[in-house]
Parts: sequence; C-alpha cells; structure tokens
Amino acid sequence: MEIIVLSITPYKEKDGIVESLSKDGLITFLAKGIFDPKNKNAAINNIMVKADIELSEGKQKYPVLKTASILDTPLKSNSNLCYLSGLMYIAEITKALLQEDEKVEMYEFLSKSLNGLKKDEKGLFVILAYTAKVLKTSGYEFDVNHCVFCGKKENIVTFSFNEGGFVCGNCFKEDMERDLNKNQMLLLRAAFNTNDPENVDFPYEKEDALVVLNKFYEFIIDSFGVRLKSFALIK
Ligand SMILES: [Zn+2]
Repeated sequence: MEIIVLSITPYKEKDGIVESLSKDGLITFLAKGIFDPKNKNAAINNIMVKADIELSEGKQKYPVLKTASILDTPLKSNSNLCYLSGLMYIAEITKALLQEDEKVEMYEFLSKSLNGLKKDEKGLFVILAYTAKVLKTSGYEFDVNHCVFCGKKENIVTFSFNEGGFVCGNCFKEDMERDLNKNQMLLLRAAFNTNDPENVDFPYEKEDALVVLNKFYEFIIDSFGVRLKSFALIK
C-alpha cells in the first residue's frame, strides 16, 4: 500500500505512531524501532516520505508496520530551510485544516506538490497552490476568474476573502478590503487555478508570493481558528 507520512509521534522507547495518507484513507500504524537509526524502519521517520508498506494486525491498538520500501524521500542533498519549512507547512495544514475524508481527496495533489516543492525556484508557488487547494477541498469557494458580483472579467480591482473572490471597479465599495496589487492578484488566481503544481510555469516575485501567503494565513486564522507553527519559518 502506497502512503505519504504526515506525522510521527514517539511511542515507548524507540517506536513511533505514524499517521499517513493513502489513496483510500488515513492510515495510522505503529512502527517499531523507527527512532533507532540502525533500524530498517528508520527510513520512514520523516514527514512526507512516500513508501510502499505492509502492515500486520496485532494485539496492539494500531496495526504494526511489517515492511516498508521507500518510493520517494523529500530529503535531498541540498535541503535548505525554505524547503524544509515548506514540507512542514504542507504537512501541518493537511493535518490541521481538513477532515479525514477531505485529506484523502488531497492525495494526488499532495504527491504532485511534493515533486514541485523540490524545484526550489517554484517552492513558494507550490505552497500557495497547495493552500488554495486545501481551502477549496474544505468547502470554501472563491471566484478568481470573474467579478463575484457581476461576472465580468474586466477591470478587477481587488480580491476579497470576505466577498468570496474578485471584485470589479463597478462593484467595488469603499469598505471592501483592497490590499493586493495586480501581480499579487494574478499570482493568487494562478495558485487557485492550477491542477499541476509539479510542472507549473508561472513567473512571480518572491515578495509578492509572501504577501499572498500572508493573506491566506489571515484567512486561515479567521476561518479555522488555527495558528500554524510552521508558518513563521517560511521566508
Ligand atoms: Zn462587478
């Protein structure tokens, strides 16, 4: 069974409880010796590792890991802080913002995002696209292709989470939020619209990506009441 590791919680001495995502559901299992570097299970002791695993039902609360072969590891020789914080962020929002059935829906997109994240220059775009996908999957709909009020595509002046998407100059009212510039709105639109975070080719400035990400995070705090430990690491 193919899985992606979402989190590992220490259990007893060198064992761990692993929460992982598969195409068919969330799988939680006990991995013996995962915290012993010499143990064969140690290789899956990393969030976002993709592995083919076999479990055996035992007397324990959780099924026990029998065999694991690593299919893909997020660790690479030049792992930098930005990349690692991106991995942590993706794992954290998947766990914190989605219901169990919604997590399962994310499997393919998560898998593609992990591949995209490895290309350093695209990292922030992948993080934005993944966040947008999580919001959509959790039931939030935003119109990023037309004015949310009149349906026109021209003269878009703001993106508002409160109003539910883009707003054009004719429909804009003074009390609406207006904090993104044109490039940032185009970036946000691309992030919402992509289905292929692995091979995306959308040019953007890092500063713009961070502004959009901050706006996403404010929405997450307001709507989910969740604060993310990994957010401050993304720079
Ligand atoms: Zn309008």
